[in-house]
Amino acid sequence: MTGSSIPALKLNDVQKHFGSFTAVKGVTEVFAPGELICVIGPNGAGKSTLLNMICGTLRSSSGSISFGDTTIDGLAPERIARLGIARKFQVPSVFESLTTFENLRLAAPPGTDLQALTLLLHKVHLAEDRDVRGADLPHGKKQWLEIGMALAMKPKVLLLDEPTAGLSVDETRDTTRFLKELTGQVTVIVIEHDMAFVRELAARTIVMHHGAVIASGPFEDIESNEMVRDVYLGRR
Ligand code: ADP
Ligand code: MG
Repeated sequence: MTGSSIPALKLNDVQKHFGSFTAVKGVTEVFAPGELICVIGPNGAGKSTLLNMICGTLRSSSGSISFGDTTIDGLAPERIARLGIARKFQVPSVFESLTTFENLRLAAPPGTDLQALTLLLHKVHLAEDRDVRGADLPHGKKQWLEIGMALAMKPKVLLLDEPTAGLSVDETRDTTRFLKELTGQVTVIVIEHDMAFVRELAARTIVMHHGAVIASGPFEDIESNEMVRDVYLGRR
């Protein structure tokens, strides 16, 4: 719904401790409905931990996370998924023996009509691969199919952890293109460390370092931010 003043997702001083180590330090962020956001930062910055807390596979140590006007801390991951937060897992979830279309149909709620599924097929740029079996899809298209399967439940928030890992330059560019096309339809939070991808995405970018958010803003501001440069060049 456009014009809504309720954020899609709100993190308020969210922290995660693993024993005496703090992996995520007091992150406060607001994500608008339909917004595309990129989270970057060096290895170990706490990006995946943050995503895991949002989808409920990890419980936050303190702070609160709300989805619309529902507080979701402590809810089971399945419950959070049903509320409308989808996540593409790193482990492939595509059924190898089923076609692209069959995979989408299986992921969609029962009774989803043919037209809706065809629309989804186009949305993830797989119309030509409708009848190709999962096993025969190239790596990049398999990734898109997984994103399509996550979108089949019509989530309000989609979480993607390094969706371009292992993709070719062309596949990466196509992935950027279709993620941008989702703007306005679903809030997409994408973790990425490939700078070319992030530049191409040209989205609001949040930079994490040692568990904290050190910068947030349009990519062009982030790219010219001295502190961010230092972090990426290993000077901090
Ligand atoms: P990123 O995704 O930014 O590379 P992670 O969120 O995976 O970083 O990890 C952040 C830090 O938390 C790292 O130092 C990592 O070793 C640590 N960490 C992540 N998960 C666990 C865990 N289950 N137990 C202990 N330490 C963890
Ligand atoms: Mg990670």
